[in-house]
Amino acid sequence: MISVHNLSFHYTAGNAIRFPDFTVAKGEHCLLLGESGSGKTTLLHLLGGLLRHYTGSVQVDHTELSQLSETSLDRFRGQHIGFIFQRNHLIPALTVEKNLMMAPYLAAIRINEERITEVLSGLGLTEKRKSSVTQLSHGQAQRVAIARAVLNKPSIIFADEPTSALDDKNCDRVIHLLMDVASQNQSTLLVATHDQRLKEKISKQIRLTSGN
Ligand code: ADP
Ligand code: MG
Repeated sequence: MISVHNLSFHYTAGNAIRFPDFTVAKGEHCLLLGESGSGKTTLLHLLGGLLRHYTGSVQVDHTELSQLSETSLDRFRGQHIGFIFQRNHLIPALTVEKNLMMAPYLAAIRINEERITEVLSGLGLTEKRKSSVTQLSHGQAQRVAIARAVLNKPSIIFADEPTSALDDKNCDRVIHLLMDVASQNQSTLLVATHDQRLKEKISKQIRLTSGN
């Protein structure tokens, strides 16, 4: 499903970041560990096609991402990948429901009201459907971000530091929620984190070191 080989990436400013080789099988859950600055976010952005022009190989579903045109890459991302960013990136002017509608809209997929109902209910957000996202607690906003990421039933979910700002109880909740929604959708899950609390939660682990 995901396969990385001899991968390195060079920001215009700064040294090349080299990544270890790894593969993640379809439906597998995996942690991406490493200190701050080790390249976790960069790697997720490469795997999700948000950063291009890498050297080496990044294959998702047997597709070498560098060979897709920018338009194909956008479509590929919208249809196959759900991103939960470090900051939740919800659109403050819109309701919960309208924020969710952005996912199919951006992927040029028909909006399915029933699927929105299903996902909101699964994440305990039914009552918040018409609320502005500015009226939500931090935990609720995070669940909306998770709902938006899984709405299109992506084959892969990437989560970037989903628990770093949370206390132990909410950390536990969020990681189990992510693992549950991933399992329900048979999605591959890759969680980037420097949160040591997650180490016992997911046994498959990829470790980045600054000097790779
Ligand atoms: P992590 O997510 O593990 O904290 P990052 O992927 O954010 O690591 O960063 C890896 C390295 O790349 C760091 O040295 C960081 O300073 C550098 N970096 C990240 N984003 C940029 C950028 N937009 N431009 C230049 N350098 C960057
Ligand atoms: Mg990061």
